[in-house]
Amino acid sequence: MNATAAARARIVVVGGGAVGLAFAAASGDEVRVLEGGPARPAADPDPYDIRVFALSEGTRSFLREIGAWRRMPADRIAAVTRMEIFGDDGRSRLDFAPPGGRPLAWIAEANRLSRAIEEAARDRGATISPGTRLRSIACGAGGAEAVLEDGTVAGADLLVGADGADSWVRGELGLACDAKRYPETAVVAHFRCERPSSGVARQWFRRDGILAWLPLPGDRMSIVWSARGALADELAALDPEALARRVRDAGGAALGDLALDSAVARFPLRLIRVPRIAVPGAVLIGDAAHGVHPLAGQGVNLGFQDARNLARALGARSPLERPGDLGLLRRHERARRADVDAMQLVTDRLEWLFGLDGSLAGAARNAGLRAVDSASWAKRLLAAHAMR
Ligand SMILES: Cc1cc2nc3c(=O)[nH]c(=O)nc-3n(C[C@H](O)[C@H](O)[C@H](O)COP(=O)(O)OP(=O)(O)OC[C@H]3O[C@@H](n4cnc5c(N)ncnc54)[C@H](O)[C@@H]3O)c2cc1C
Repeated sequence: MNATAAARARIVVVGGGAVGLAFAAASGDEVRVLEGGPARPAADPDPYDIRVFALSEGTRSFLREIGAWRRMPADRIAAVTRMEIFGDDGRSRLDFAPPGGRPLAWIAEANRLSRAIEEAARDRGATISPGTRLRSIACGAGGAEAVLEDGTVAGADLLVGADGADSWVRGELGLACDAKRYPETAVVAHFRCERPSSGVARQWFRRDGILAWLPLPGDRMSIVWSARGALADELAALDPEALARRVRDAGGAALGDLALDSAVARFPLRLIRVPRIAVPGAVLIGDAAHGVHPLAGQGVNLGFQDARNLARALGARSPLERPGDLGLLRRHERARRADVDAMQLVTDRLEWLFGLDGSLAGAARNAGLRAVDSASWAKRLLAAHAMR
């Protein structure tokens, strides 16, 4: 430690999902992660995890920095080298790919990703306590105290709430939250395909929702069908062969015949805005701080950038600043605001635009796709943004 660096702080993180663990791995401070769920099994099962994430270039560079990327099994990650987006008129489309065949994103399983980050966090000295439930928390600029269900007290200089979209910490801190339920439910499943995806991710903006096909290694792919109204129930009730045919036809049989290769999971979709994410002694990161529609596959990417930025802000604090000082936490809040607001605005507007009924709205959105497709500067911009 040099003469002007601040002393190592004690930090308690509530929530050991990918984002909370990533913060623990990135932080140079003494971190304890209190996770409500059970301990991770000794090994991940062979079948692909039903939850997969599209990880951006910015996320990959962060995961490299914290030593998590190299711990992920390379043969379970698929690189996305091209993105194809289709309108709902059968002819409007937009496709883009970065120059030189560089990947736009990487598709990874949630369980293997979290395991890699957890190992990196432990390696860097973090303590992880699974199966921990909390009774209450109290925070101030001078520090925070979390009272566990067994009555023991975990004291810290700062408490970080990383406990997901339904954040208990957010409620305990009295932080206001504006949540809007989308009319879609995400239906998620994996398929084996007659032809491999070859690194192409596809997305259809349909009148009944938004369908994404994400490449997995080999002949597999994962779908997220953000299905409007009763469609989610209808899809979930189909037998495996009928669902495979339905998904194949919705995607114009782009990969030939499909065979269901997983259970079918459903996730409610919400926009969650949290105007203030900090109070003296505590701050929120990840889905606890913001919820976005998954149509751009950016939720966990935003959370990783929260983790990275907060760890940096704490690492750069002056010796006179305490980790729980509101001024420091507000600097972090401001630094993240534009990124989060922009993603929420874009995904929310797209969801709205493609949900509008009427031929005029349909013509406008399809013309928009075609216009972007014919403008090479716009496609370069899209590719550059997707890779951030
Ligand atoms: C269908 C779908 C597809 C998606 N696809 C993508 C994608 O392609 N790319 C992308 O970037 N994002 C995607 N997302 C978003 C992504 O899933 C989330 O942004 C991400 O999981 C948030 O991580 P987190 O660690 O903040 O929260 P979570 O993953 O929710 O983790 C929270 C953790 O806190 C623990 N916890 C909760 N309450 C307590 C408590 N009281 N005490 C202690 N621990 C507690 C939980 O057990 C959990 O481990 C998708 C989301 C959906 C619904």
